[in-house]
Amino acid sequence: MPKRYDYIIIGAGIIGTSLGARLAESGKSVLILDKQGIAGGASGGNLGQISLMDRFEPWHLDLAMEAQDYYKQLQKRVPIGYRQHGGSILLMNQNQITRAEEVRALQVPRGLSMELLTPKEARNLEPGLKKEGLKAMVYCRQEGSLDPLALTFHMADTAVSNGAYIRIGETVQELVLSTQGIERVVTDKDSYQADTVINCAGGWAEQVAAMVGDELPIRSHKGTALVTQPLPPFLTTTLVGGGFLMEETGEEGSDLRVGTAICQHENGSIIIGQVTETAETDDRSMGHIGLSQMTANILNYFPDLMGVDILRAWAVSTSYSADGKPVMGYSDKVDNLFTVAGFKGAFTTAPAVADRAAKMLLRGETFIPEAVPRREHRRKQ
Ligand SMILES: Cc1cc2nc3c(=O)[nH]c(=O)nc-3n(C[C@H](O)[C@H](O)[C@H](O)COP(=O)(O)OP(=O)(O)OC[C@H]3O[C@@H](n4cnc5c(N)ncnc54)[C@H](O)[C@@H]3O)c2cc1C
Repeated sequence: MPKRYDYIIIGAGIIGTSLGARLAESGKSVLILDKQGIAGGASGGNLGQISLMDRFEPWHLDLAMEAQDYYKQLQKRVPIGYRQHGGSILLMNQNQITRAEEVRALQVPRGLSMELLTPKEARNLEPGLKKEGLKAMVYCRQEGSLDPLALTFHMADTAVSNGAYIRIGETVQELVLSTQGIERVVTDKDSYQADTVINCAGGWAEQVAAMVGDELPIRSHKGTALVTQPLPPFLTTTLVGGGFLMEETGEEGSDLRVGTAICQHENGSIIIGQVTETAETDDRSMGHIGLSQMTANILNYFPDLMGVDILRAWAVSTSYSADGKPVMGYSDKVDNLFTVAGFKGAFTTAPAVADRAAKMLLRGETFIPEAVPRREHRRKQ
């Protein structure tokens, strides 16, 4: 195995594997390192929902639509569980309805279908939905879901068949600097060199940046979710709470927050999220209070799920950016450090994000700032 590469990618989540596959396809030598495993972080612990309505900026919706086309084509060759069954947002008060109408006015002219349903129409679409006080539901038929593990492993396999190396169970501990930038990537097992180091460490991206004294506006929180025994068809769409339409970016120091997110996967299992809370990135503990609040919340919406067996619950660190804008570009501090992190619900856009990142890395292409925010992380001139 070589010791020197064109690119070393830190993180084998959906972003790192997609970008690794793309760079290796272009003939570059690539090493992907992950301290856990492929999809060992948030990419292996999420609901697989493909949400489009909450991509408010035009560049974000464009990337999401491009990724959907990619998934549709990929599903014909590879079983990634991609299904376009529609997605719904539950609206519980007038503020949320007003916001849904605003978002609808933005998104429909951009090609997204968004129907505002009455509670009766919502129940026709989702007969299991029995929440009292539901005011309305907004439905987008282009939304859907996929199997996040299948997709991430497919991207990792593609990277390897394109010539990339992947080393798992190997923690990047130090980025050794010289006057030229990062000279060596030191792990707990070995050390490597690369022309460019790419930080795709998700919720850990801030820690990786800190190794070279850089600061990223990326924060992490712990998300908790659970999966039930397989059931006969119960849900038609993926469903989330009205908070998803608000321009929330997460709050620093926020306490435990219980949101509504639920979908049924192909095998009949229902995946339910999500509790988010501030925690250390490697803290995967599950609080009893959070889990019981999450199940109580879902039973309020879907009381027929009472008595269904929960097979497994888990918690994992996921990233968000403090101001809602992702980071993609070179570090100001270190010339050969590039970051791709903080993309909200990254499964909705990953292949398109990887494509743009690869074009920036390979061809030095730049994008108008509104198209792909790079924030202050630009190569020194
Ligand atoms: C409960 C929950 C539900 C979610 N639901 C959805 C959803 O329905 N739809 C959706 O699109 N998104 C969802 N998300 C968000 C989604 O999972 C993330 O946006 C996505 O997985 C981020 O991918 P990533 O590759 O950037 O990060 P990750 O998948 O977290 O990958 C980062 C990797 O970096 C590795 N790493 C970190 N530090 C080091 C180091 N020092 N050395 C080596 N390796 C290192 C980690 O081990 C990890 O594997 C959810 C997240 C959670 C937690």
